[in-house]
Amino acid sequence: MDPVRVVVLGGGTAGWMTAAALATLLPRARCTVRLVESEQIGTVGVGEATLPQMRAFNDAIGIIEADMMRRTNATFKLGIEFVDWGVAGSAYIHPFGAYGRPMGGVGFHHHWQRAAAAGKAGPLERYSLAVAACRAGRFDFPDTDLTSIQSTYDYAYHFDAGLYAGYLRELAEGRGVTRIEGKFVQVLREAEDGGVAGIRMESGNVVPGDLFVDCTGFRSAVTGEALGVAWEDWSQWLPCDRAWAVQSERLETVPPYTRSIAREAGWQWQIPLQHRTGNGYIYSSAFMDDDAARETLLANLPTPAIMEPRSIRFQAGRREHSWTRNCVAVGLASGFLEPLESTSIYLIQMAVMHLIALFPTRPDDAVLAAEFNRRMDVEYDRIRDFLILHYHANRRDEPFWRHCRDMAVPDSLAEKIALFRHRGSVPRYGEGLFSPPSWVSVLFGQGLEPRAVHPLAEAMPMSELDAWLVAIRSEVAAGVSGMSEHDAFVSDYGEWGI
Ligand code: FAD
Repeated sequence: MDPVRVVVLGGGTAGWMTAAALATLLPRARCTVRLVESEQIGTVGVGEATLPQMRAFNDAIGIIEADMMRRTNATFKLGIEFVDWGVAGSAYIHPFGAYGRPMGGVGFHHHWQRAAAAGKAGPLERYSLAVAACRAGRFDFPDTDLTSIQSTYDYAYHFDAGLYAGYLRELAEGRGVTRIEGKFVQVLREAEDGGVAGIRMESGNVVPGDLFVDCTGFRSAVTGEALGVAWEDWSQWLPCDRAWAVQSERLETVPPYTRSIAREAGWQWQIPLQHRTGNGYIYSSAFMDDDAARETLLANLPTPAIMEPRSIRFQAGRREHSWTRNCVAVGLASGFLEPLESTSIYLIQMAVMHLIALFPTRPDDAVLAAEFNRRMDVEYDRIRDFLILHYHANRRDEPFWRHCRDMAVPDSLAEKIALFRHRGSVPRYGEGLFSPPSWVSVLFGQGLEPRAVHPLAEAMPMSELDAWLVAIRSEVAAGVSGMSEHDAFVSDYGEWGI
């Protein structure tokens, strides 16, 4: 059987992640990979905060962490701090990790809720080592001993996405990927309604292929434009449609977490890298004009700007199918969910890994395509609901926030909120983000409260419960005191090299 000729269209994070993974994880007898990108068009140039799953991707393609971090000016990330999303002055951290420990057949938060109602628990975040480390500006690798509190968290990275794409390019080219520089101007079809046969470059050259991966960003040049796959608009639930992005100087002390600060018509991100800080204001143009949003961002930078702000427009939603005939859309070409929970690169990773697992032997395999699309739909739907929760469950007073509070949410989210309110139950599922501790952190963090305590959490006498909670709090405090300063850890780690 001849190898499948894969043509990756686009050289942003999506394009190079796809090319590097295909070239590493599939034997050359199975596929050859070419990647077309245009320096003239460039990339979207944002996307710096990631999720812990990214480590598995990097490991799978043989990236050495210390080397990658040094080359991309990366820092560690233990969670996201949400500031002012509840009432003014409130802040909670959504950690990459658990709270306390489960006991008596139910999750920790049920026990905490019972003790909190009796005034005996203190804030939920005191039971999370990841949150404690964020607050203390500390970092260390999780322990592999599952009995240790040090094993109850995970970590991700903040990095310079342009440098990461360059890093992957070097790796991919070293593994046989051929890069073609230039703009393609036409998508050639096998028949009017058939698959893609090739693309015509501006130079007139034709690049033929068997399987095309559309990584052309928001333009979705093949999936959206050429194949006409419809767009599912989700802006009725996620009304932010614009961003200003600007880089500023490095923070004096670099924290191990992203910040998301609610503002009048959206929210501002702060992503701390080793050499600079990534900032942006994501807002709804129906509630704030561009000039006011730009000013809001510039007036609220943590350090002086080192460039002029850039404006980016988008709409929340996704293509009805990611895999159509012999073309698979990956990254922004397949859909967009704002970076509130840093999920876009994760979605790229999932698309690439599902593509490898379902890699076809003939170009137009409708059965594999249907399964791929099902899996990606689940991923998108789950993230969508989680993001909407942040907006819907706010307690702010501006028109934008009142609109979000009053809007109808998808049934799938309404059911989850109702179940939580009823008895503190949080979603648990086998596919897709997010895990129960994430739901716990955002539901409680945004001020929602269950009406009743789970009966299984009422078995323990209150004095015993109290002592157990004190012991967990001490374990967390001791755990964090043994960790290193994040700044120092990052600079020492960079020295490890390869
Ligand atoms: P792009 O980077 O736009 O790349 C498109 C590629 O296609 C380019 O190489 C371009 O040259 C090429 N191309 C297009 N048309 C042609 C043509 N005709 N011929 C040749 N080449 C062509 N994600 C996260 O995970 N974390 C974050 O913190 C985060 N923050 C974000 C903030 C904002 C404001 C936005 C808008 C997005 C953010 N994202 C984030 C998403 C993230 O930026 C993207 O998922 C990621 O960069 C992947 O983009 P891409 O590769 O799909 O598209």
